[in-house]
Amino acid sequence: KAKEKGRLGFQFFTGAMDRQMAERRQLEKSLRRGLRDGDVFIHLQPKVRLAEGRVTGFEALARWQSPDHGMVPPSRFIPVAEECGLIGGIGELVLRLTMETLAGWRAHGRVLLPVAVNLSAGQLGNPGLAGEIDSLLREFGLPPTVLELELTESMLMGDADQVRAILFRLKDLGIKLSIDDFGTGYSSLSYLKRFPVDVLKIDKSFVTDLPGDPEGEAICLAIINMAKALSLDVVAEGVETEAQSSFLSDNGCDFAQGFFFARPVSVEEAQDYLPVTCSPDRPG
Ligand code: C2E
Ligand code: MG
Ligand code: MG
Ligand code: MG
Repeated sequence: KAKEKGRLGFQFFTGAMDRQMAERRQLEKSLRRGLRDGDVFIHLQPKVRLAEGRVTGFEALARWQSPDHGMVPPSRFIPVAEECGLIGGIGELVLRLTMETLAGWRAHGRVLLPVAVNLSAGQLGNPGLAGEIDSLLREFGLPPTVLELELTESMLMGDADQVRAILFRLKDLGIKLSIDDFGTGYSSLSYLKRFPVDVLKIDKSFVTDLPGDPEGEAICLAIINMAKALSLDVVAEGVETEAQSSFLSDNGCDFAQGFFFARPVSVEEAQDYLPVTCSPDRPG
């Protein structure tokens, strides 16, 4: 009897695994097609300076509208892309779409605000990454200051020498580097000395607890103060309420992103957040 149960349990287990693998292969196939068919695109979430509530930049976020699976969140398709070798293609597409957007704004005579693009571990495994980004900027005739790149702590723990070389090249090009989801990785803080980091982004899991939660408050204050001491910018992620915004602003956090200010929007809608210029010879 026990043997029977064991067998059944085992069969159930392999059955579930088979199903999961089949689902994954299906997702991978759809993603490959989606990339080819233009179903992967970007949304832009505004970043604000808390002191005036003015929009000072954006973060590009990948979106995949699949005919088979509907809107698939990046938390689901980015890991699949990492595993099946599609991340290079997605990463390049997101960079290209970002530059097309910036070039489009410029063609409309708009003042450009920088856009931050998320990098993936797989992209840092490409020693030519900085060169490719440089070529893209040149292709679109854009200055490097319109692009920022976001990395996570865990990405700084891989092949340290290669990653360092890539990051210093990017830095030399004049591109700002941010640490995303700061405080949630396993990395030691020593990388802040070893890598050319410009910005810390406080993870939204710490911001959620503001104000009132002693641990959440202490962690946010510690990150803000450390950023200041190291002359880094600090951005709070996932700000959803006025109370969170005030707490951060009262405690010296300069920038924030979150649904309280704006959700990620289409590139067309994002254009409305760009500064309005008034030149004397072109009134209105
Ligand atoms: P992330 O880079 O930390 O991006 C912030 C995420 O928080 C986004 O989710 C954004 O929509 C969401 N968010 C913004 N404000 C709020 C808020 O007030 N409340 C809440 N609850 N959420 C907020 P999204 O777009 O689903 O992206 C999830 C993650 O997927 C990103 O986290 C990033 O790690 C990854 N990702 C997105 N686009 C790309 C990409 O182009 N390349 C790579 N490698 N990863 C990407
Ligand atoms: Mg990010
Ligand atoms: Mg983040
Ligand atoms: Mg996050």
